[in-house]
Amino acid sequence: MKFGIDSGHNCPPDSGARGIQIEDDLTLELGNRVIAKLKALGHEAISCKPSKANTVKESLGKRCDTANAANVDVFVSIHFNFFNGQAYGTEVFAISEKGSKIAHSVLNEIVKLGFFNRGVKSGNHLFVLKNTKMPAILIEACFIDSQKDMNLYNAEAMANAIVKGLTS
Ligand SMILES: [Zn+2]
Repeated sequence: MKFGIDSGHNCPPDSGARGIQIEDDLTLELGNRVIAKLKALGHEAISCKPSKANTVKESLGKRCDTANAANVDVFVSIHFNFFNGQAYGTEVFAISEKGSKIAHSVLNEIVKLGFFNRGVKSGNHLFVLKNTKMPAILIEACFIDSQKDMNLYNAEAMANAIVKGLTS
């Protein structure tokens, strides 16, 4: 299988949220771990994060262009959530039926780590899901402003869960 892995943000002015931790740092580390683990299993995995963009829309568009040009089988955008310090848990967005199936598989593996299951949600409003041609998911791994989630979060365990969900 060929995966397009999109580490969210990390392309100013497309910058992520700042809570107890910085979203950009976590998505980059997690995305790199997921790519390495998929390759170690014999899959193809490309990074879809652009090196530069002038606007957020251009940053998002380039991620889709990379995935579409490479004709990846599955597009995976990695993000962390941010709300009011009280919300916690994991949610995964998808649009298509195939995407939704993959989203459930990934979500089920992540909640095994102890994160609260916020469900698979419709990603009709999400640019990178709307503008990629293949089954696509957007993972909100957990909340960076939740002490509960940040205490539980471990990049290695989260990467393993995502890879297991994508490949099983
Ligand atoms: Zn984000």
